[in-house]
Amino acid sequence: MSLFQFKQGSKHTLFKAWMLGLLWVFTPPLCADDLPQLGETSSLYLSPKKEYEIGQIVVAQIKNQGLVWDDPLVSEYIRQLQHRLTGKSKADLPEWFILQDRSLNAFALPGGFIGIHSGLIETLQDEDELAAVLAHEWAHVSQHHLARLAEQSGLMNLSTLAGALASIAIATQNPSAGAGAMSATLGGASQSRINFTRENEEEADRIGMQILANTGFDPRAMPDVFLYFQREERYLGHKIPEILSTHPLSASRIADASNRADHYPKKSRAHSLTFLLVKTRLNLLEQTTTKKNPQLATAFLDEIQTENKEAVQTYAKAIAAILEDDQHLACSTLQAAPNAHPYFRLAEAECTAGLGQYQTAQTMLNNVLATTPQYRPAVILKAEFLLQEKQVLPAVTLLQRYLRSAKNDSAVYQLLAKAFNQQKDMPRMHEAEAEYRFHSGDYYGALSQYQMALKLCKNQTIAEKRIQAKIKMTQTKIHQIRAL
Ligand SMILES: [Zn+2]
Repeated sequence: MSLFQFKQGSKHTLFKAWMLGLLWVFTPPLCADDLPQLGETSSLYLSPKKEYEIGQIVVAQIKNQGLVWDDPLVSEYIRQLQHRLTGKSKADLPEWFILQDRSLNAFALPGGFIGIHSGLIETLQDEDELAAVLAHEWAHVSQHHLARLAEQSGLMNLSTLAGALASIAIATQNPSAGAGAMSATLGGASQSRINFTRENEEEADRIGMQILANTGFDPRAMPDVFLYFQREERYLGHKIPEILSTHPLSASRIADASNRADHYPKKSRAHSLTFLLVKTRLNLLEQTTTKKNPQLATAFLDEIQTENKEAVQTYAKAIAAILEDDQHLACSTLQAAPNAHPYFRLAEAECTAGLGQYQTAQTMLNNVLATTPQYRPAVILKAEFLLQEKQVLPAVTLLQRYLRSAKNDSAVYQLLAKAFNQQKDMPRMHEAEAEYRFHSGDYYGALSQYQMALKLCKNQTIAEKRIQAKIKMTQTKIHQIRAL
């Protein structure tokens, strides 16, 4: 039985290997209302739309390398957090994605895309600290820092900029090097660049703290997380946390953030249970995929001081049992300590299905979907159960309904392709497979799937036109990348 999660590349037995569902939204990101509009110089040369296009190309390259890790629960959690921090409606959000990488890092790309290393979530103490890092990154986005940096370096050609970012991402297999490496490549090592970077960093801290205060988080989490990174740096010696190589941390920067935090009213932290469950889940998944000691994965549980400790311990035990394919233990653990949090219900549905009781598992998911019909983790899990049971029609209906408001979700397209394959509906299977590949950044794969679909759709005017338009769009993407 699989803990449902998707990553491109490998197809191992425990985890289904899928790519992340993308939000290919064509709306350029806008600054939040209360933020200073400092991006004017940039927009003279590099419009928000162009920034977005560059970001999209880079993200597609990152995805096509199989670097993005889509665990539906974790992806959905990040999306909720993004929604809260940016105040944007979910349909307008450029994607924030997780990379399976234990190092401490997060990075912003042009257009509002943000990459978050799993190690960051696995390590930080609470949601406010994670929010602080993400608010800082979002501030870089809202202030168009990357575009301004490129502009100052006199590098205004769209394709060169995208090429620089994408090639760095691919060459190093480490897209987080992007921002730092780009500033090094484009800006040289002049003193002015260093100052510029520091200014950017301080501006991102200041605006990030403002975002935290406005969205109900504790602004003090910003200096707290800096102090944590600094302690890590001392502890690790020469091996500094990656985030500090792209966001240099000076004593004055820490002091400045700390002073600013004192000006905000004191705030007690919410100690989000959801954050702790996500952190637990990622630690366990990571330890299992890397075949390390699962006990290490939950060592941090001893440190939890909040009223949530017991719930987190129960969840950790259940997830560890699911991963070890001990579905009886997982289900009995969850039943012995019931909890209303949806993650517990999803885990129970999963171990119940693991025991072969698909009907009961579906009822559990239906209860979740009754209040939140578009809740992605429940939709994906339910579709998987339906397909296991060869109930293809309800699966197709469920997935198509979901895609109406999430048109770019590659993982859902992949499930849809599987459903059409079970139905032996080959034209639709190829079209869904093409969508999956397109939204995973695999444009060549998408093109050949669309062409196969087109061949099978002869004399069906509407389908033909639709697929021809998709082929054209895919070819445009291929040309854009070739031009880099
Ligand atoms: Zn920064």
